[in-house]
Amino acid sequence: MEQKSPFRDETGHAGRAYYIETFGCQMNVRDSETAAGLLETLGFSRGTDKESASLILFNTCCVRDHAEKRVFGNIGALKELKEENPNLIIGVFGCMMQQQEVAEKLYKRFPFVDIVFGTNLLSRLPAFVESAESGARTLAVDEQNIQIEDDLPSIRTGKINAFVNINYGCDNYCTYCIVPYVRGRERSREANAVVEEAKRLVAEGYTELTLLGQNVNSYGKDLADASFGKLLAEVSKVDGLKRIRFMTSHPKDLTDEMIDAMARYENVCHHVHLPMQSGSNEILKRMNRKYTRERYLEIVQKLRAAMPDVELTTDIIVGFPGETEEDFLETLDLVEKVGFASAFTFKYSPRKGTRAATMEEQVPEPDKRSRLQRLNELQERKSRENNEKYVGVTGIVHVEDCDEKHEPVCYGKFSNFKMVYFPGSPELIGQYVPVTITNVRKNSLYGKRADE
Ligand code: SAM
Ligand code: SF4
Repeated sequence: MEQKSPFRDETGHAGRAYYIETFGCQMNVRDSETAAGLLETLGFSRGTDKESASLILFNTCCVRDHAEKRVFGNIGALKELKEENPNLIIGVFGCMMQQQEVAEKLYKRFPFVDIVFGTNLLSRLPAFVESAESGARTLAVDEQNIQIEDDLPSIRTGKINAFVNINYGCDNYCTYCIVPYVRGRERSREANAVVEEAKRLVAEGYTELTLLGQNVNSYGKDLADASFGKLLAEVSKVDGLKRIRFMTSHPKDLTDEMIDAMARYENVCHHVHLPMQSGSNEILKRMNRKYTRERYLEIVQKLRAAMPDVELTTDIIVGFPGETEEDFLETLDLVEKVGFASAFTFKYSPRKGTRAATMEEQVPEPDKRSRLQRLNELQERKSRENNEKYVGVTGIVHVEDCDEKHEPVCYGKFSNFKMVYFPGSPELIGQYVPVTITNVRKNSLYGKRADE
């Protein structure tokens, strides 16, 4: 399924391996695929570990403090490798490096790092690598012009699912979030470009795609006569495409047109990742989310009325500035009422430059910690309850991989995102297999093939 570069082997890098470590979200994974494509046009080939690589790239994330700390720790650990192999090229890019101050700090602290650049300069990676080879260090950050180029070469890493960007950046300015500052204003790709990419991917062998955007629901606001519902309709017509996923959906922009498209087109998966963030109207307002808990519940009800098998997943932040025990109880209450299949839960992490970071009433760390624990306990119970309803149900699993080491078990997802494990072997990877669920564990379903 990999694209072959026409320039391979012509530049003297043949046989030299690159290794990319990616932190953060699916957008970063997609950017790393582009970085890989660019490196392969230079003649590098994909390696399997840092130790044997000639070039190591870190793609960074700055959404939470934790991600930042991990990046600094991991880069520090590369010093030894560089001492052993002075020709090793080390580069750091991505959202964290899109912030001038942080990029400069990293550049100064780690003199063995050769290349530091912001996400928006990804297309210049080949030039940066060439100057590193001639012994020059690069620090390149352009905070003003955040444009990301389409149609750069890329090497997909998904075995059975390919990511397709549909819009870049974000205009929402949720008060806790750094993304609009490092990913720039929202820009939609032309529907034609998305459909053409989907067709190319099907021709390469992919039958499942995930359409990506910080907020897919606002797709097309900057184009004439375009919307996410219309885009889903267009992509669903691509011959050979069996599953279309998408993320992330901002509740404020979720339309009836989109729900209708999900329900109408068979290959659009019945799963919505719908970040709720908080169950308290006061906190939602302070977060600048532009919906209420009532509106959120209304959307959930509409989705379920249109698609009884739809599964919802979410993101939730606890300990946002000003969050009282009562506010937090409202979050627990909304989680109880909605019944998410699963949730990513976070302690609020102040991000320099965002509005919430300077708000008074920051919540003490022990409160954040205990709220996160209580929320996770509730979500675990809800996930288990949600799983129980699958016992005896038969669905189609798109097989992602198999684990032969521990037990011969294959895994993959139902259309609605539920992960399913069943006995099988690697020749099933990429196939669509009917499986009947026999038992459940915490967040996973176990079953047996229904066609044997
Ligand atoms: N664009 C997506 C959206 O609006 O839902 C998600 C973007 S963000 C990379 C993923 C999640 O990280 C958010 O939904 C939010 O829950 C969490 N997040 C963002 N900023 C945060 C912060 N400062 N502290 C804690 N969690 C944060
Ligand atoms: Fe961040 Fe909000 Fe934009 Fe999502 S919608 S990326 S949380 S600002």
